Amino acid sequence: MTSHLSQTKRTSGESSSEVVSWQAEMKRAIRSSSDLCEYLHLNPEEVGSAENDFPVFVPLSFAARMQPGDPQDPLLLQVLARMEESVEVAGYRADPNGEAHAGLSAGILQKYASRALLISTGVCAVHCRYCFRRHFPYADAPSGMEQWKHSLEAIASDSQIEEVILSGGDPLVLSDQMLGQLLKKLADIPHLKHVRIHTRTPIIIASRITDSLLAHLNSTRLNIWFVIHANHARELDGEVLAGLSQLQQIGIPVLNQAVLLRGINDSEEALYQLCKRLMEAQIIPYYLHQLDKVAGAAHFHVPIERGRELIAAIRKRLPGYAVPRYVKETEGEPSKTVLA
Ligand code: SF4
Repeated sequence: MTSHLSQTKRTSGESSSEVVSWQAEMKRAIRSSSDLCEYLHLNPEEVGSAENDFPVFVPLSFAARMQPGDPQDPLLLQVLARMEESVEVAGYRADPNGEAHAGLSAGILQKYASRALLISTGVCAVHCRYCFRRHFPYADAPSGMEQWKHSLEAIASDSQIEEVILSGGDPLVLSDQMLGQLLKKLADIPHLKHVRIHTRTPIIIASRITDSLLAHLNSTRLNIWFVIHANHARELDGEVLAGLSQLQQIGIPVLNQAVLLRGINDSEEALYQLCKRLMEAQIIPYYLHQLDKVAGAAHFHVPIERGRELIAAIRKRLPGYAVPRYVKETEGEPSKTVLA
């Protein structure tokens, strides 16, 4: 029997020049491990795939960059739900950074000295198996002007806040119109200077960088910064870099954060190639995060000593600005701990 996947295979890859809107990419995303295995000609039992309450969600534009038949593909390993996720491991918790206590799940807003984090939506363009917020009650997250109202009022009432970080979920799953409205409201707050957009969407769906998004970003008085999230050089194909380059062309700095992940980027060569690719695209490799100990992700853990060795190794091969800061979140600490 031929499934719907067979008919939509690899449309964003090498075999077609069809441009699919990012909304269409979201709608037809792969939503189960078994479908992802079928798409890549893998036997679900042999690869130890599973289905669980953090469902698989992988747009075809990302799946098309995976190598069919390779169960160790570094892009596949980031998104395929596996049996290991149900193994309980001491020290791995549902909320590793204590964000529920910090008010993130309910109150939306977390303040630092001059910065405020605004959860703009609970939705993402992909479900990363190692995500530290994989157990968050995202269905309750705000996503619209009415629900952002309280956050906006809190930002407006604190003149010390100069920067707002749009996080999630992923703010770029919001429509251009909604993002435009949000940017306009933020620009109306006189003491705000910067908006930082944390997003993985342009890595997953290159067509997300639309002309109307660029127009909104280009017309605000605020300084816009993009912090993207790519963990492996193969995520950064020509289409993705072309999209990001459009941001750079309108003067938006683009930085990358990655997570150190076993089997994905925990070799000198993989990390070197990631940083080199970023550097060639004039994207700053900003952070390499130590994995947060979230339940279900223990199989991605890389010891800190190994992480330090890797940073030392790539430092010999790259200029200083192309070597990310290796950092760790610690519950209750207001800033990250620098490990190397
Ligand atoms: S895109 Fe970011 S927030 Fe969303 S699942 Fe992946 S790591 Fe988590």
